[in-house]
Amino acid sequence: MKIKIPHFTTKDKIIITGTIAFFIGINYWAYYTTNLYTELKDTRSEFAVSTSTLNTTIKELEEKLADSKKENENLSDVLSDEQKKTVELERERRRNEKKINTLTKLTTIDPELLKKYSKVYFLSENYVPAKLDTIGTNFLVDPTKDIQILDGVSSYLIDMLEDAKRAGVDLKVLSGYRSFDYQKTLKSQYKVVYGAGTANQFSAEQGYSEHQLGTAVDFTTTALRSAETTFDQTAAYAWLAKNAYKYGFIISYPKGNLYYQYEPWHWRFVGVDLAEDMHDDGKQFYELDQRDIDEYLVKFFD
Ligand SMILES: [Zn+2]
Repeated sequence: MKIKIPHFTTKDKIIITGTIAFFIGINYWAYYTTNLYTELKDTRSEFAVSTSTLNTTIKELEEKLADSKKENENLSDVLSDEQKKTVELERERRRNEKKINTLTKLTTIDPELLKKYSKVYFLSENYVPAKLDTIGTNFLVDPTKDIQILDGVSSYLIDMLEDAKRAGVDLKVLSGYRSFDYQKTLKSQYKVVYGAGTANQFSAEQGYSEHQLGTAVDFTTTALRSAETTFDQTAAYAWLAKNAYKYGFIISYPKGNLYYQYEPWHWRFVGVDLAEDMHDDGKQFYELDQRDIDEYLVKFFD
């Protein structure tokens, strides 16, 4: 059997070739398009995943930032608290330092120096001042005597006596520190001369004497030469009444006091601070509360 090969004309060939080329083109296009679509789909999917991851990351970062801010705020609060604590501690340290200084200073000041001596509270017979200074003879009514006063008080007394002298006032020292034994002897002499009753009125019992402290001074004038009530009529007394407080001296037993007989010649050193306050308030030493007086002890020698 002979196979008959169809005879194609040139036109047929062109049509066939064109048709084949067309189908190949279609197929290729379809393949290409499908590939593109898949790729697009994959890309979209990848993009969605990336976006989601990115969003998550952003959210996490935002949370971290918020935490961080909060932490900073907390730290800032903590810092502020710590600074406040530091300031408070520093204040407390200064307060304590002041307290320690005051207490240290107080240990160096004899508490007896501002005590009130009365019939119920008196100085021990063994009491002796820490250190005594001799008063220059030019200030004494009797230059042959050796009169002493507590060290630390003498500078105030000398300043006062020099200023009185500069003001043209004749102010002289009659007596200063007296020991217990001396006071006892003096009392016995008074008793012999005036009798016990009268002697008790104008010479303190040995233990009660402010003179044993070394802070009390009896004043007089060249004309008077002794402890007289008329001392209050002298220019020396007037000057003392006006100025003594500036040097820390006060009159222990003023006129009309309820604690002892009037002694215009007898002045006691209590420190400038207390003397000034007593002067400003018009108060007497023996009228004050002992606790109020003791507040001034730390400033006694200032
Ligand atoms: Zn006296």
